[in-house]
Amino acid sequence: MEAILYVRWSTKDQSKGDTERRQIELGASICRQRGWTLAETLIENGKSAYHGRNRAEGGKLYEVEERAARGELAGKVLIVEAMDRLSRQEPLESVTLLNRLAKRGLTICESSTGTIYDAQRISEHWAHLLIAFARAGEAHDSSRIKAKRVSAAWRRTQTDLTTKKGADDPRLCPAWMEVIDGKFTVIEDRADIIRGIFERSANGYGLRLIAKWAQEERQRLGWPKATWHIRNVTNMLHDRRVLGEYQPMMRTENGGRSKAGEAVKRYPAIVTLELWHQVMSGLESRKGTGGPRQKCANVLSNLCRCTYRAPGSNLPCGSRMTLRRQKRGPAQITCSDFSRAGECTCNAAYRYDDILAGVLDNLLSLAMPAPSTIGQHSRVPVLRAELTTKRKRLEEMADRLMEQDDEVLEAAFRRFKAKVDVEAAELKALEAHEEKRTHATDPHAVAEQALALREQMATDADARIKVQSYLGQLIDVIFMDPSDRSATIVVMGGLRVIKLDKHGKVIGDVNTAHMLKDQSIIDKLGREVTLDANVDNWNRVLAGDNPMRLTKLDEVAQSATEAA
Ligand SMILES: [Zn+2]
Repeated sequence: MEAILYVRWSTKDQSKGDTERRQIELGASICRQRGWTLAETLIENGKSAYHGRNRAEGGKLYEVEERAARGELAGKVLIVEAMDRLSRQEPLESVTLLNRLAKRGLTICESSTGTIYDAQRISEHWAHLLIAFARAGEAHDSSRIKAKRVSAAWRRTQTDLTTKKGADDPRLCPAWMEVIDGKFTVIEDRADIIRGIFERSANGYGLRLIAKWAQEERQRLGWPKATWHIRNVTNMLHDRRVLGEYQPMMRTENGGRSKAGEAVKRYPAIVTLELWHQVMSGLESRKGTGGPRQKCANVLSNLCRCTYRAPGSNLPCGSRMTLRRQKRGPAQITCSDFSRAGECTCNAAYRYDDILAGVLDNLLSLAMPAPSTIGQHSRVPVLRAELTTKRKRLEEMADRLMEQDDEVLEAAFRRFKAKVDVEAAELKALEAHEEKRTHATDPHAVAEQALALREQMATDADARIKVQSYLGQLIDVIFMDPSDRSATIVVMGGLRVIKLDKHGKVIGDVNTAHMLKDQSIIDKLGREVTLDANVDNWNRVLAGDNPMRLTKLDEVAQSATEAA
């Protein structure tokens, strides 16, 4: 079928280019969907449909009416974005126009909804006429529709991040970038400060110190606007725009902001993914510790925990360890809670230098690389392909739904859409996880960095801060046992454990990392479950989420889903 695309905007339309582009794109896409040939495009520039000027002599719609009256348009389809593009006169007048054109054998397609009007359908389905009637009425009160279109234009800016002329949009420019010759360009001396923030955080500096440094640098540079403090620095360390990603946001009804669509790679990155994840894991390991102290005398303060159990209690104390320097004899660490005269009554003292030496002596053997699942076993490509297929099916369902307003179809569409949304979220989480895994710093390299600073630690507070950060990235916790004054170093969620005596000598070494290879298990329901060589999967198994130990409830749920 031959199609005529009718494009119109009024003189009052804010964004003519956008309106025209949108109407043309919509028209072209509906032609593709239905297999129509676009024979001509009529562009009615700046004519107001409200007063019917587009229908007056000289207007394109006038031409259409004339040609239809002569019978030239029979068997063709006229595409308009919305009925209000055709006419905004009195609703009855609009319907008359629609009816007249249809009676002359012209099919009319509303591209924004996919609704089709022809003479036969109008006579058969009065509902269609009623919809058109109501819509024409709505077009009369156009403010709401116009508001929707403005936000659609902004949404388009958010997806391309370009202005109407195709240049990068300065409104979406982070403070360390500018638009030069239509391209996002890094302002290097500003970016240097941002990189400095990330590098300092990766090296274990606390937010207060980083903020102080960044503020000084910023003033030196004459970078205007608000001062920098802990809050901005925290936000900056979580801002994925430094990786070149842009996350479109939209206003929610209650005035908040929520994500509108997927983040896109759009800016030049100023921080590497490796550095980003090093910072993330550093922040994670320091969470709730109050951050490193300026002098950082006690490198082990974040890691060691008192495991004393009060008589009659099953709960260990769990307190951190405080460093106590003595006039004579070696420095000691003791339970912080006890030294503050808290509830813990454990007065055991451990030799700080011996324990630290024991930790550092064994650091290379503790730093085992976690086997990666990337590449061979990644489920991401499969899930991504599945999701693409499902999204296509969803679009087909939406198309069908536009053609026939059917409750059952709509319910099925909603159910399917909810399912696709859940799967999209799962895929996203998995992608984030794999990104973290691929770009995680090699534990061996971290251990070597720490050991390289070993000599300097005695005299250099910066070296101590860095070593503390590196240990935090490698070690989960060190349990201090007052009964024999041993220290148990726990790594990789317990897959690797080394026990040191009170002199820092190894007295026990448990290594279950050999479990980290793919294994197939038959669970209680007789299904084969593959546990891939992934620390997190094994942590789940160790934590009790074991496929061999399915509960009755799981079995019921499983058989129900299999039946469905
Ligand atoms: Zn204690």
